[in-house]
Amino acid sequence: MKWIDIRSDTVTVPGEEMRRVMASAEVGDDVYGDDPTVNRLEEMSADILKKEAALFVPSGTFGNQLSILTHTLRGDEVIIPASNHIIVHEAGASAVIAGVQMRTLDCDDGKPSAERIRSAIRSEDLHYPRTGLICLENAHSSGRILPMNYIREIYELASAQKVPLHLDGARIFNAAIAEGVSPAEIASCSDSVMFCLSKGLGAPIGSMLVGKREFIAKARKGRKIMGGAMRQAGIIAAAGVFALERMIDRLQIDHDNAKYLAEGLSKLPKIEVFFDRLDINMVFFRITGKASSKFIVETLHDKGIKINPPEAGEWRFVTNLNVTREDLDIVLEEFEGALTRTLAS
Ligand SMILES: *Cc1c(COP(=O)(O)O)cnc(C)c1O
Repeated sequence: MKWIDIRSDTVTVPGEEMRRVMASAEVGDDVYGDDPTVNRLEEMSADILKKEAALFVPSGTFGNQLSILTHTLRGDEVIIPASNHIIVHEAGASAVIAGVQMRTLDCDDGKPSAERIRSAIRSEDLHYPRTGLICLENAHSSGRILPMNYIREIYELASAQKVPLHLDGARIFNAAIAEGVSPAEIASCSDSVMFCLSKGLGAPIGSMLVGKREFIAKARKGRKIMGGAMRQAGIIAAAGVFALERMIDRLQIDHDNAKYLAEGLSKLPKIEVFFDRLDINMVFFRITGKASSKFIVETLHDKGIKINPPEAGEWRFVTNLNVTREDLDIVLEEFEGALTRTLAS
């Protein structure tokens, strides 16, 4: 059975061509620095973001947490929007791994004002923790991009205060396309960037941590400590190389499809689509009438469509490379059917 899966863009599976380059990848022991495919992927990643160096890591969470571990000292404070992935979806890892204190700033859109960030940076005082890092996320998990002038402003502020800035750029390529800028332009407003190969770009495994040479050398040691130094990793790095060469430009299709899906959903009864955060491949909406989300999820599942139940009353559908316009028409039709039935009951 062919599933239509719009739960996330992490569900994408490698296609024929990607699998072929993986099968024929030249490999070596990457812990000795001997894997040419990993080396190539790291060079390409640094080049694309115009940074000095890059490191291949097993996951986005790994890359973010390794970055925090590398930038900070135990007991440091990290300033971060409370809605970011690092806070909400990484199982409290920064407390366990880096041993830092998270100074969360409440804001749904991932962009607390420069003033709020400035006043959260600690001054020198015996009682205060040291502010060790500021984290931002672009594109943000709410479906929005952070405007260039905003991230520029925050980076200038951080640099002036000598606090490093880490960007969780899991979807930096989506952000760049939506923003109409190069990924390097976004990356220029940060000291380190993590981006994912395994989301919209379609690789099965892997993320990159990118930054200054010295920072990446230190992170390489941290990766070893965290158990993430891999041996013949070229097999999976090959998928990453393929993704960077071939899968970035097509993300525009996912964005267009998200807009198409959003338009279709907005025409259904009792549906409110949040068009103000439809920047990338994610559609957020809520049902304003009395509907059983369990009924909707199960009914669609029976029709071969996988969706996530709503979180705090909010639904999220994510377009990706394994989902076509025709698939979206099926989603709209089946969703309308289930919605109409549950609203009427
Ligand atoms: C998916 C995601 C991550 C983590 O990636 P994993 O590979 O799932 O660990 C980090 N940040 C953001 C914004 C993400 O969407």
